[in-house]
Parts: sequence; structure tokens; C-alpha cells
Amino acid sequence: MSDEPDGAKLDGHHTLHLETGVALINALTGAHVHGKPKRTLRGEDLVRAAAGVLGDGGTGNGHVDPFDAERLHTLASRLRAVIEALSLGEKDKAAGLLNRVLAESDARPCLHRHDNRSWHLHFHSPEADLVQRWSAGMAVSVAAALGDHIPHRVGLCAAPRCDQVYVDVSQAQIKRFCGLACQNRVKAAAYRARVRRPDP
Ligand SMILES: [Zn+2]
Repeated sequence: MSDEPDGAKLDGHHTLHLETGVALINALTGAHVHGKPKRTLRGEDLVRAAAGVLGDGGTGNGHVDPFDAERLHTLASRLRAVIEALSLGEKDKAAGLLNRVLAESDARPCLHRHDNRSWHLHFHSPEADLVQRWSAGMAVSVAAALGDHIPHRVGLCAAPRCDQVYVDVSQAQIKRFCGLACQNRVKAAAYRARVRRPDP
């Protein structure tokens, strides 16, 4: 059972947690993607989407049950609220929401040894189940990014009719869109606006 790549450094843990967290938020929550309405997932669809994000390595045995899927959906919704607050510049609100996720996930530093690896730091107890492991890891990593302890930023796509989230690992921290689809969409709309209203 492992939820980290072999030999991951602390920053590798954070990157994995943030990228998986963002993938989970985008897969399980949100109303729009790249300008189009998004379908709300329920039941088996939710289970499939959650398992698809976590993959075999992230679930230990590749299994997510409906109860896990509901809890992962709740986690994703709470993390989305944190990122939405951050994108509005509401840092106090984001910190309050994140403190709640940290408390509920029972996040705590704990040294683990498994899979022939040497002792290394996790943010959950050895008894934690699948959802607790991911909740604790993601909450700690978002908190580390929010507090400038790691040079990553999480954000909400700035394009209209898209509420996908992203991780920005660039030095300059200038990412604004979830990806090229939205970046190009906004560029094309700006171009069309210029063509319609040429400079006098
Ligand atoms: Zn987007």
C-alpha cells in the first residue's frame, strides 16, 4: 500500500497531493468546464470518477466503495471552497475552511515504514483509511501552499463558464487558466471583440 511515488521527497509529497487534489476537485465537483455545463456525478459514476483519479497506487487495492466516493466528494467540495475563497482574495475565510478540513481529516505528522522503504513522514496515522489518508495529505499540502511553505499556488480558472482548478508550479506564478482550452478560448473572444470594435 502506497500513496506516494518511491523515494518521494517532502516536496514530492506536496506536489502529488496538490495534483491529485486538483484532479479530484475537477473530476467530482464544479458546474462548468471549458465553457460548457458539467454533469453532476452520482452513484456508480461518482465511484468510477473517484477511483479513476486515485488509481491503483492511490487506493492500495484499486477499490473505492460508494461510501468512500461520497466522502471524497465532500472532501473535494470543501477543498474547492478553500480555493474559491483564495481566488477571491479572502485569505481569512480560506484559512478558516482549511483548518476545518485539517481537523476533520485528523491530519498529524507520523513516521511510517512500508514497502521496503526507510522511515518517512506522512500526515496521517498508520490506522487511517483511504479517505483519511488522502484528506490529511491534501489538506496539509494546500495549507503549505497557502502559507508559502512550498512554491506552489492553487487557483481557479479565470475563463468565463469554467470553474476548473489548477496547480501553478511556475516560478513567476502567473497561471490564470486551467489549460490551453480556456486560454485559447479567452484569447479568441478578445480577438473577436477587437475585430467587432476596431480602434478609431
Ligand atoms: Zn478553464
